Amino acid sequence: MKELKERILNDGRCLPGGVLKVDNFINHQMDPMLMKSMAEEFVRRFAGAEINKILTVEASGIAPAIMVGYQLGLPVVFAKKNKPSTMENMLVTEVFSFTKNKTYNICVSRDYLQSGDKVLFIDDFLANGNAGKGIIDLVEQAGAELVGMGFLIEKAFQKGGELLRGAGVHVESLAIIESLDNCEVRFKE
Ligand code: 5GP
Repeated sequence: MKELKERILNDGRCLPGGVLKVDNFINHQMDPMLMKSMAEEFVRRFAGAEINKILTVEASGIAPAIMVGYQLGLPVVFAKKNKPSTMENMLVTEVFSFTKNKTYNICVSRDYLQSGDKVLFIDDFLANGNAGKGIIDLVEQAGAELVGMGFLIEKAFQKGGELLRGAGVHVESLAIIESLDNCEVRFKE
C-alpha cells in the first residue's frame, strides 16, 4: 500500500536487530487518517470472506482492528496480555515476544470467542509469527474459524509470513519489508 510505504520511508526509524520504529504514526502517536485508509485496504483485501468478529492483541493492534471493525460493522475483541482477576472462563496461550525477548500469556474470555465465530485477526507487525501462532491456538481452543490475518507491516526477513502462509492462513500485509540491512528500508515489490 503506497501511502503506508511512503510514511514508513518518511517517518519510520530503524533500530538494531531488525526492528522498525513507527512511533510517529502507529505505535505511540497514531494517525487516524492513515489508520482509516489502511482499514479500507483490509476491507478490500478480505472482501468476499465471511467474517463476524475482528480479533487483535493489546495494545498496538487495537487501533487498526477497531477501524476495520467499524467499517465492517463488526465487534472487535482484543486478547489481553495479563489475566484479569475478574475474568473467568478463559482461553489462554503462551506467546514469545520478539521485541521484549520474553514469553507471556495472552487470554480471551470464552464469552467473546466462541465456536462458530469466523474471525479476522488484525495486528500491527508480523515478524516471527509468534503472536499469530498464539491466535491460531486460541481460535482452535474456542472451536472458531480463522478466516484470515491482516498485518500493517510484515518483515519478510523474519519467518512469520512463511510460517502462517505455510499453515494455510490467508495472510495480507499492507507493507512488506524485505530488508532493514544498514538501517535502510527495502520493500518487497
Ligand atoms: P511476532 O509475534 O510476529 O514475532 O511479532 C509481532 C509482534 O511483535 C507485533 O505485535 C509487534 O508488537 C512486535 N514487533 C515485531 N517486530 C516489530 C518491529 O520491527 N517494530 C515494532 N514496533 N514492533 C514489532
